[in-house]
Amino acid sequence: MTFHRCNCHYIPPHVLGNMAKKGEPAVRQAARSSAQHAKFSRGRRSERAVKISEVLSGFVAGATAPAPGTGAREVYDCEHEWRLRVRLARGEGDSETGDTDVDTVYGFAETVRGYFAELGRNSIDDAGMNIVLNVHVGVNYMNAFWDGDEMAFGDGDGQIFTSFAQSLDVTAHELAHGVTQFTANLDYYSQSGALNEHFSDVFGTAITQKELNQTVDEADWLIGNEIMGPTLYGEALRSMKAPGTAYDNPLLGKDPQPAHMKDYYNGPNDNRGVHINSGIMNRAFYLAATDQIGTQDAAKIWYHALQNLWPTADFNDAVEIIVESARTLVGDGVVPEGTTQTVRLAFKDVGLPT
Ligand SMILES: [Zn+2]
Repeated sequence: MTFHRCNCHYIPPHVLGNMAKKGEPAVRQAARSSAQHAKFSRGRRSERAVKISEVLSGFVAGATAPAPGTGAREVYDCEHEWRLRVRLARGEGDSETGDTDVDTVYGFAETVRGYFAELGRNSIDDAGMNIVLNVHVGVNYMNAFWDGDEMAFGDGDGQIFTSFAQSLDVTAHELAHGVTQFTANLDYYSQSGALNEHFSDVFGTAITQKELNQTVDEADWLIGNEIMGPTLYGEALRSMKAPGTAYDNPLLGKDPQPAHMKDYYNGPNDNRGVHINSGIMNRAFYLAATDQIGTQDAAKIWYHALQNLWPTADFNDAVEIIVESARTLVGDGVVPEGTTQTVRLAFKDVGLPT
C-alpha cells in the first residue's frame, strides 16, 4: 500500500497571505519567510538523510537515538536552521534538557501516543513508528507541520504567534494528520482534504479536552488560541462551535469558515478550501458531542470511521461511514443507545448529506 504524503501546515495559507500584505514590516517579513520556507522544507530530504546517518553512526553527541519502530519519541533541536533533524536533543527515556520546547513536546507526544494507544493504536502508523518532533525550526517561523513522517514546530515571532511547541492542540492536530495518512489517507484537496483537516481538529480537541479533564460545556472548542501572542491575544484560528467567528481583524483578515452546507466555499484557494469547509464537519462534530454523547465517545466513533474511509471520500461518504460506525459501536456497547440518531441529527443540522 502506498501512502500520499500530506504536507499539512497548521497556519492556513490565507492567514499567512493576509499577514504578508497587512502587517508591519517585521510581520510581513516573518509571514513571507514562513510561507516560503514552508515550501522549501519539503525539498531538503537528501540533506536530512545525511543528518540521520550522522545520528545513526553516533556522530552527534548527547541524546541517545532510540531504535526505529519502537514507537519511541525523538525530539530534535533544529537550532533555528531551516532544516530538520539538526541535533537529537531528547530520545525516549532521556532526562529533561532544560529547553522548555524540547521538554514540552516530549510530554505532549506521550499524551497523544497514549490517547491513540487507548483506542488500540500502536503509534501513528499502528506499527510502532518512532515519533519524530523538530523544535526551533527556522527563524521566527510561524507554523508547524506534519510532512509525511515527522513533525516540525516554529518558535513564532513572539508577537503574533508564540511558540507552536507550547500547544498540545498543535501537536495533537499535526500528529493526527499522520494517523489519517496511515488510515483513510484522505487526499489533501477539496472535500477529502477538508475531511483530513476536520479529523485533525477532532483529535486535537478530543485530546486537549481529555488532558484538561473538561466537559463539553467547559471546553472552548477553539483551535489555535493557544499560540496567539500579545498582539492577537484572545483570537483563534477556528471555532468548532461557531465556525466563521474565530477571528476578525486587519492582520489575519476574517475567519472564512462556513458552518452549514448552504455557505460551502467553492473557490480555488487553500487546496479548494481544506481549512475552510472543514468548518461544516467541525460544527457537526460539536453538535454530536454536545448532544448527550460527549466528546470522548464522539471521537471514538470518528476514529472508527477514519479506518473505513478512503482517499477520495467526500462529505456524503463521511456521513454515511460515521453513522455506520455509530451503529456498530452502539451494537458493541461502546457508546450508548440513541447515539446513531444523535449523530445523524448533527449532520442534518449542517445540511448533510446533500
Ligand atoms: Zn491541519
